[in-house]
This record gives sequence, C-alpha cells and structure tokens, in this order.
Amino acid sequence: MSHDFDLFVIGGGSGGVRAARIAAGHGARVALAEEYRYGGTCVIRGCVPKKLLVYASRFPDEFEDAAGFGWTAGQPTFDWASLIAAKDKEIARLEAAYQGTLQRAGVTMFSERAVLASPNSVTLTASGKTISAGKILIATGGTPFVGDIPGREHVISSNEAFHLTSLPRSIVIYGGGYIAVEFAGIFAGLGSDVTVVYRSEKILRGFDDDLRDDLTSAMRKRGIRIVTDAEIERVDRTDAGLATCLTTGEQVMADQVMFAIGRTPNVDGLGLAAVGVECGWNGHVVVDEVSRTNIETIFAVGDVTDRVNLTPVAIREGHAFADTEFGGKRWCADHALIPTAVFSTPEIGTVGEPEHVARERNNNRVDIYKTRFRPMKNVLAGRDERTMMKLVVCADSDKILGCHVLGPDAAEIVQMAAIAIRLGATKSDFDQTMALHPSAAEELVTLRDKWVDPV
Ligand code: FAD
Repeated sequence: MSHDFDLFVIGGGSGGVRAARIAAGHGARVALAEEYRYGGTCVIRGCVPKKLLVYASRFPDEFEDAAGFGWTAGQPTFDWASLIAAKDKEIARLEAAYQGTLQRAGVTMFSERAVLASPNSVTLTASGKTISAGKILIATGGTPFVGDIPGREHVISSNEAFHLTSLPRSIVIYGGGYIAVEFAGIFAGLGSDVTVVYRSEKILRGFDDDLRDDLTSAMRKRGIRIVTDAEIERVDRTDAGLATCLTTGEQVMADQVMFAIGRTPNVDGLGLAAVGVECGWNGHVVVDEVSRTNIETIFAVGDVTDRVNLTPVAIREGHAFADTEFGGKRWCADHALIPTAVFSTPEIGTVGEPEHVARERNNNRVDIYKTRFRPMKNVLAGRDERTMMKLVVCADSDKILGCHVLGPDAAEIVQMAAIAIRLGATKSDFDQTMALHPSAAEELVTLRDKWVDPV
C-alpha cells in the first residue's frame, strides 16, 4: 500500500530533526510536524538559552577576580533586557538553521500540531488534514511538571524564566535537580536573592555524594539559601510580592517563584491510547532497544520515552532509528557511560558510577581517589572556592568506574575523560598519562593515594 510519506515525524526537536534528516538522506520521503518552534526544548528553552544565561551570570566573578591580577575596572552594570534580546536573537538564528537543515534534506515541514490517527496516519490539528505514512516517529519531548498546589497560577517554570521582562530581585526555586540548581546559579550570579526549596535532604539526587555536598556548600557560600526537607504548600500573591508557604511553617517572600520539580513526557492528547500505544507509569512511550513501540509501525525517541533525558541521547536515538529503519544499518543508541554536566556555579561534570552505586554493584570492592584544591586562578583572585575531583575505581580490575568533577571547566574536562573511561581505562592508564601542566585536569592523572575517610 502506498502512503503519502515513508516517515512522519511528530516533533521538531533534537531527536525528531535528526531522525528526519538522516532518514531523508537514506532516500525516504519524510514529513515532520512541529507545533511550536523548530529546534525543540534544547534550542528554544533548554540547554542553549540556559548556557547563555549561565555565561552571563559568571561575569561578576570575572570582574571581581580581575582586581587580584592588577586590573582596576569601573563599576559594571547589567541590563537584563539586553541579555534576553541577545539570547532571543541567537535562538532565532539557530531555529532558522534547523529549518534550513530540514529543507535542504528535502523534509516536508508542517508547522502545526500532529496527533496519531491510526498506526499509519496522523491528523494535523490546525488544517484538519490526515496524512498517511509507512512509519511514524513520536519525538514530542517533555514538558515542565508544576503540580496542583493552591496558587499555581502565580508560579513560573523554566519555560517562562527565559522570557521574564525583568530580573527578579528575589526568587524562590522549588526543586533540587539540575535545572533548579542551574537557575539558582544564574539568578544569584546576576544579583537576585535566591532561595532553593527542596523536599529531600540533599540536592541532586542520584549524583555522587561528594558532588552534592560540595556544591551545596559552594552555593551557600555564594549566598544562595537552600532549604531542604521542605515542600511548597501554597503560593499567595500579596501587595509585598509572592508569599511562598512551606510545610515547615516558614513563609518566604519573593518577586518570582519558579518550579523545577521535574518534567513529564509530552503525550497529552496525542492519541496514543486510541491507537493502542503502550505507555509507562508517567505516560512515557514504552519502546524496545531500537525505539519501536508495541505497534509495529510506530516508534519513539528522546524525552517522550523517558530513558535518559538529554539532548545528545535524543539525537543518537533519532539517528539510530533512521539508520536502522531506512538505511539498512541496524544499531542502537548506547545508554551506558553517558557524561553529563550541571551548569551550576561552580559546575559539575560527571561520568560513570557515583561512589554509592559502584560500592553496591562491586560488593564494596571499590577504591576512591579524591582531591580538593584551590584552582590556580583563585589564589591571586582571592577566591576561596575549591575544585573537587574524584575517581571511583574497581579494586579488582583497576578499571575507572566513575569520574566526578566540581569546579571551573568540569564539563569540558569530563567530556574528554569519558572517552578514556569508555575505552575501559584503568587507574594505571590514568597514572601513566603525562600530566598537562599547569592545568586543573592534570590532577586526574596525578592522584596517587587512595582516599581514606577521616575518622
Ligand atoms: P524536544 O527537544 O523537547 O522536542 C520536542 C518537540 O516536539 C518540541 O519542539 C515540541 O514543540 C514538539 N511537539 C510536541 N508535541 C507535538 C505535536 N503533537 N505535534 C507537533 N509538534 C509537537 N539536555 C542536555 O543534554 N544538556 C543540557 O544542558 C540540558 N539543559 C536543559 C535545560 C532545560 C531548562 C531543559 C528544560 C532541558 C534541558 N536539557 C538538557 C534536556 C534537553 O533539552 C532534552 O533532553 C532534549 O531537548 C530532548 O529532545 P527531544 O527531541 O526528545 O524533545
């Protein structure tokens, strides 16, 4: 039976665009629908704009540190509106680049919402057209979860944080995941008074404990208030601003309240149930290792599958799907040893197992190598912040199981370490690698003594 297209992709974000482009390159007739803006979360309201704001938030450190190196600067001033305008211009450029890529690949674009109509067709909701396709790829991403508390209409999510008309003098950020701590660093760096509220005892659940503890104390030293073991019960608008009531009985006043308590798969109204696509506990689309759902012709990649919710992962999954289904080359995205960063200030780079996981998986046969030091630049700058580097090593095989860094350039350092670790590097491989001096990363190849916890 002939269809309008060989592939219909729902969602023009990281995973969808990659899959569409690669499938078209293999000769498939491809269509893609995007209901908002091409580029998806990463480009429009995720990784990219966030990193631009992170850069902006770190300049005050530079101005301050410069004095220790002989510079006398005037009093710098900051204009939020200029930053947001510059960021928006760059995002528009990237969005156009994404559209250009699809166009050049010969992908037919529908700038409207698409929903499943059957295992081989979608309906475009604005134009009402139904389009058939041999295969359908769901790449609709995720969306911020806010929950149902009294006063939820007063709170923003990361989506709105990128478009505030002014820098809040004060902000409450609810959540302890990477998005919460990144925005805490952004707003604090730019001069807002920041309170982070988190329901558990420590921020960054799932990360290595040394990263969690050291980042918590670094953020506190930078003036960010972190309230743990507390939940937000309600938010009221008052003449003095937003009043956030915590389960501890405390009330925190602020200009803005931002919720960063998680994201849910973007599946509402997508027609999954009607077509019989199996979904998991939080609505995510259940797929196998080649991203196929329980329906033979329907596939899903990226955050909507809630596997590892990161841009490079969505891209790999989309690429693997397109090669497998249209290029005659079967492969699966590898979800092991994914390096990741938290662009807090100071930042985190991490790959492999946190110490507690490694201990559990290796019957406690794990050696820890760890150092905390003041980076060279901080000495003349008079800044007391320390870098932490840690290697988790299998005591039996000498293999590096995890590498965790907190400090300047942690993301850049760990991306490179991830290659070695993926290749199976041992601690002695690291030891034999000549140090690159003077650098912070050289500490990773000069860690000699096993860490013994002080008693
Ligand atoms: P998305 O990029 O979300 O794309 C889905 C697209 O589908 C969207 O454009 C949406 O409009 C569209 N869509 C949805 N439903 C429909 C429909 N029915 N019809 C048509 N179109 C539809 N990841 C990193 O790796 N590094 C980071 O530093 C990082 N920082 C982040 C910061 C923030 C604030 C956020 C929110 C996310 C961040 N992420 C980061 C995560 C990353 O953005 C996502 O993992 C990635 O974008 C997922 O890609 P995707 O293709 O699955 O979905």
